Amino acid sequence: MSARVLIVDDLFPNVKLLETKLGLEYFDTLAAMNGPDAIAICEKGLCDLVLLDVMMPGMDGFEVCRHLKSNPVTAHIPVVMVTALDQPSDRLRGLDAGADDFLTKPVDDTALFSRVRSLVRLKAVTDELRQRALASREFGIGDPLALATAETGLDARILLIEDRPGAADRMAGALRQHHAVTIEPDPHAALQRAAEEGFDLALVSLDLAGFDGLRLCSQLRSLDRTRATPLIMLAEEHDRARVVRGLDFGVHDFLMRPVDRNELTARVRTQVKRKRFTDALRGAMQASLQMAVTDALTGLHNRRYLDNHLGALFADDATRRPALAALILDIDHFKGINDSFGHEAGDEVLRGFAERVRQHTRPVDIVARYGGEEVVVILPEAGLVEAQIIAERIRERVEAVPFTVQRCTRSIPVTVSIGVAVRHAEDASPGDMLRRADLALYRAKASGRNRVEPQAA
Ligand code: GH3
Ligand code: MG
Ligand code: MG
Repeated sequence: MSARVLIVDDLFPNVKLLETKLGLEYFDTLAAMNGPDAIAICEKGLCDLVLLDVMMPGMDGFEVCRHLKSNPVTAHIPVVMVTALDQPSDRLRGLDAGADDFLTKPVDDTALFSRVRSLVRLKAVTDELRQRALASREFGIGDPLALATAETGLDARILLIEDRPGAADRMAGALRQHHAVTIEPDPHAALQRAAEEGFDLALVSLDLAGFDGLRLCSQLRSLDRTRATPLIMLAEEHDRARVVRGLDFGVHDFLMRPVDRNELTARVRTQVKRKRFTDALRGAMQASLQMAVTDALTGLHNRRYLDNHLGALFADDATRRPALAALILDIDHFKGINDSFGHEAGDEVLRGFAERVRQHTRPVDIVARYGGEEVVVILPEAGLVEAQIIAERIRERVEAVPFTVQRCTRSIPVTVSIGVAVRHAEDASPGDMLRRADLALYRAKASGRNRVEPQAA
């Protein structure tokens, strides 16, 4: 994944070094030698991520970070603080200033790339959410951007897979300030719990006694039910090679022991945020796909869905087509219902009518709103006689019980006329069959309504 990384450092050799490293991994880089320049670049939207030196003359890294995070235009840009070795207090100050993560000088390659990739992935889903926000406002569904801004990455359910009691307690202690933590020392039990209990994130020790933690990571990455769970490896310095292998097959991040609690907090938050944004994005996408084929008033399929679906059914070779029937239902004197009870009551009748049709059809049948007060039902594998029986049952159920509207204060008797047709081998398109059903409906209306009529023989 390519991204534009802004390197902020007052010393030219430091800038050059990071530029070279990131360039080799195909990241684009920009440089700023002081705080105000860095802020200007961020405000122009020219970068996706900031690597920010803490020690700079004039405006130091903390101040730059606070500035970026307090401005709505730049607050979403991830900031990685580059701190001097052995300065845990810097990390705490960095967190206070709103930093997303930390790197220690001299900057280690594995750490650099893993941090940059994690945060670039996070920014990619955030940007996607921002773009969709506008579209979903037009659709009138919940605003994913509001969710994204409100998302803190806190209150997560975390699975800590660690069999050293001391280390487990220390990490759990740090995380429990903001999250619910489950410690599981047994890797087999951990795999099962991860699949069943739905955690937001798992921390996996690579030093489990008698078990390869990396294998556990790979199992978690390959199971359907755990694939989306972010993973962070816990590793010893001598285990770098395995950390790199884990990152290669998709483990999201790692922490070196002894684990710094501020780093732990920051990395967990980044991964939890990314997971939640990804989930929100998927939800929003499903909602808009659903909406594109659904009629808003009745919740039935809409005409677009019906046309696409019928088109596909008719695309098969004519001789091998299974039987297929269509009903067109049209409420009788619906205009009169609107006129006497009001348009809102008319809408309620339509909703109730749709629901009743759905109740008296099978899940394999397609029920779609065809026009104002017309509904089409497609009955796969039904012949003319069967289709007429189903139509008659619907007609009877509509007539039998009046529709209640205005919070059940009024009751409206409703009847429906139904035209029935079946597919003919010589039909060129679904339109041919629907036209026969429409002609039958016309006859049902002409012969007094509240009737089922089959297509002409
Ligand atoms: P017929 O028995 O011949 O079908 O008479 P009808 O009054 O039902 O037929 P017509 O097609 O003349 O009128 C249909 C009415 O349905 C007219 C229109 O205002 C109303 N209508 C269409 N869509 C909606 C809607 O979404 N809500 C409401 N309340 N009314 C609708
Ligand atoms: Mg009508
Ligand atoms: Mg009509």
